[in-house]
Amino acid sequence: MSRNAESTAFRSALEVVRGVEPRVADAIAAELADQRESLKLIASENYASPATLLAMGNWFSDKYAEGTVGRRFYAGCQNVDTVEALAAEHARELFGASHAYVQPHSGIDANLVAFWAILADRVESPALRKAQARQVNDLTEADWFALRRELGNQRMLGMSLDAGGHLTHGFRPNISGKMFDQRSYGTDPATGRIDYDRVAEAAREFKPLILVAGYSAYPRKVNFRIMREIADSVGATFMVDMAHFAGLVAGKVFTGDFDPVPHAHIVTTTTHKSLRGPRGGMVLCGPELADQVDRGCPMVLGGPLPHVMAAKAVALAEARRPDFAGYAQRIVDNAQALADGLLRRGATLVTGGTDNHLVLIDVSGYGLTGRQAEQALLDSGIVTNRNSVPQDPNGAWYTSGIRIGTPALTTRGLGAAEMDATAELIHTVLSQTTPGTGPDGAPSKAKYVLDPAVAESVGKQAADLLTPFPLYPSVDLG
Ligand SMILES: *Cc1c(COP(=O)(O)O)cnc(C)c1O
Repeated sequence: MSRNAESTAFRSALEVVRGVEPRVADAIAAELADQRESLKLIASENYASPATLLAMGNWFSDKYAEGTVGRRFYAGCQNVDTVEALAAEHARELFGASHAYVQPHSGIDANLVAFWAILADRVESPALRKAQARQVNDLTEADWFALRRELGNQRMLGMSLDAGGHLTHGFRPNISGKMFDQRSYGTDPATGRIDYDRVAEAAREFKPLILVAGYSAYPRKVNFRIMREIADSVGATFMVDMAHFAGLVAGKVFTGDFDPVPHAHIVTTTTHKSLRGPRGGMVLCGPELADQVDRGCPMVLGGPLPHVMAAKAVALAEARRPDFAGYAQRIVDNAQALADGLLRRGATLVTGGTDNHLVLIDVSGYGLTGRQAEQALLDSGIVTNRNSVPQDPNGAWYTSGIRIGTPALTTRGLGAAEMDATAELIHTVLSQTTPGTGPDGAPSKAKYVLDPAVAESVGKQAADLLTPFPLYPSVDLG
């Protein structure tokens, strides 16, 4: 596609928006400028292609399409059927899954769909069976009461939040933590890695209905073959949430024991992280759970987002191209270069390195909290997020970690040399920042002191690093 077409498309779109509410058009343009200028190391973010972005801005947004392809509760869904079927087909082919459900609006929604599919499949509830056989009118109030009681309080075993698990894996602030009786497995304090024997032991003791693997802040591969064996040994359904690393699965960097799809009963993901698609979610499963998963709407979701499903179809088609494998490999190579650069300069990394797309720096080695480090880096033009480290003494708000990831910068084209330069900039900021004090002179977990001249100099070097790698080079807003 010519650069001209993409520039024209975005310019025209902004002109039309500007005609109604110019401040929105200005904010959209400002967002592109901000993203172009910042060294984005947020591990969960990326830059979707112009084709993916453009597939979302249209009249598909106006359509209700509850139901599934060919079985809708609304008339006139033939074109939605086309894009939903295409997205599902690309997903099945890309991941080698027998079934794909592409309606979830986000990763959280995909997990809720998966949880309910598993509950509906596994929980022995006569009332639920009646409800599923559409004998709803035969259910008494007592049946409904029993159904609610039987479905609630089921057991889930997932990775602990501070070891890198996700809120939706049974933690209190999320509905999953209120629905499920949750226990978690952590990591080995000595190595920072998952200790599969401990997971097996926890599973034997707790006998979960669902064993969940997947993470948002664990810098290593997970052996899904072993996890499946553990699930089988206690009769648990094995669910993998690959929200963060779906791009590495799609790009065949994670294969064999490290590819979740052949090992899990059900796999959920987001589409906007390393997979580089639109903001959304997806569920993959075998034939056993397919019917339940397809009931995601109306069980958990309302109307699907046809414009986002169109964009999912585009992004998944891109991920099936041969060059996506090269992209996925470069993500991991870049994360390793970044980790090596940090280690060489004396940083402490959780697990001592990485074999995926992210690196977790334990900033207590610099005498800082995650909160102080995150803000000092931001002052210096480096966008990261603070994150707990295992057994974090500073809790989930201040934390002791900085999570950095390479999917976004790799999309821009930065490589190993730039990762080493990035490591130097991060190390400079963190080693020059000191903890500040509160109004009463007491040590603060939020305040920090960083010479503005250092922040400015690092900011300039970060901008210089990006100059040879323009973001959305095909898009000139004029
Ligand atoms: C990001 C993430 C989610 C949630 O995705 P949203 O689209 O933000 O709802 C779920 N699980 C894991 C492991 C994640 O990393």
